[in-house]
Amino acid sequence: MSVSFTGRNTGKSYSIDSPIWMGDNNELLDISYFSNFDLKNIRREEPTLWRYRHVIPIREDSNIVSFNEGFTPLSKINIEGKQVFVKEDFLFPTGSYKDRGASVLISKAKELGIKKVIQDSSGNAGCSIACYAAKAKIECDIYVPSDTAPAKLAQIQMYGANVIKVEGTREETAHAAFLAAKNNYYASHVWNPFFFQGTKTFSFEVCEQLNWKNPDTVVLPAGNGSLLIGAYIGFSELFYSGIIPAVPKIIAVQSKFCAPLYEAFRNRTDNIPKVIQGKTLAEGIAINSPARGKQILGCVKKTGGKILVVDEEQIISALFEMGNQGYYIEPTSAAVIAGLKDYLSESDSDELIISVFTGTGLKSSDKIIKLLLE
Ligand SMILES: *Cc1c(COP(=O)(O)O)cnc(C)c1O
Repeated sequence: MSVSFTGRNTGKSYSIDSPIWMGDNNELLDISYFSNFDLKNIRREEPTLWRYRHVIPIREDSNIVSFNEGFTPLSKINIEGKQVFVKEDFLFPTGSYKDRGASVLISKAKELGIKKVIQDSSGNAGCSIACYAAKAKIECDIYVPSDTAPAKLAQIQMYGANVIKVEGTREETAHAAFLAAKNNYYASHVWNPFFFQGTKTFSFEVCEQLNWKNPDTVVLPAGNGSLLIGAYIGFSELFYSGIIPAVPKIIAVQSKFCAPLYEAFRNRTDNIPKVIQGKTLAEGIAINSPARGKQILGCVKKTGGKILVVDEEQIISALFEMGNQGYYIEPTSAAVIAGLKDYLSESDSDELIISVFTGTGLKSSDKIIKLLLE
């Protein structure tokens, strides 16, 4: 099995066993991996994402850092009078799907003998990296915007990570971490390609749970695209391994108050405009200059999908509707469901549609309480 990093701009190849997270001249890296997904090699006795161990590029089992996460339920629920499947990724150990990426990324860090990692986050990615770093006994610095939800800060601190608060926007926080990471290992859900080797298991699980059928359409969030890009990689690996006959159409959802990818898609350009970020309840996807923006657009276009925007009213209504069905999700998660509702209202065919609950509401109770008081 030959695996390497490949630079997105130059196509240059870099060793997978060097502790890098970007290439020369700040180029983004992907992992070039000829995946040979084989149903016979699934570890069926393991109800976790590590059942797909044979296509996760970690060398030694002894380096795997895991809380037995993943293989989350795929539940059929009723939305807009239609039956759709929603993947319950709010049921991860730290409360969001980011654990998929953190488990694989921190396993690689352990394999490389890394002693300290840096991450930046508006919350959930920081919680995940801090949690897995704790298990691996790796020191961890998490950079957060100073207005990060108290519950997320508490969680990061309980895992023993150092919290570094940055005054300013989410972008300024990312930049501070990026600079700190120049001499450290950046456990970034945006830059570090190993993160996507974890989030790709979303697609493996979905197809296995559908008895190796592929959905026609998946509705996913798009901020930095850490789930979307992973899902695209996962479906593509299944397609190229001959397991599924087609890669599903990807519908990406952004908040109307911060929608650079939507603007680029709508204007049929790959130049992603700088947008001013308005205050949105969907803080987790409010990313005004996504580093992998072009890649996200590519995934959406290659699958014949599209990008939708939802407004605050739609987000709140989806949040309450899901609560009333027994799903306490965070507002960023509700934005995805709002996009799903929008998509369903115009789709009249018998498409097999999948979406996702990305994160729990328990960390966002402060925001939810405010909504209840309004
Ligand atoms: C991270 C996150 C998202 C979106 O992720 P991107 O990588 O920015 O596309 C959506 N919902 C929740 C709960 C998240 O934590």
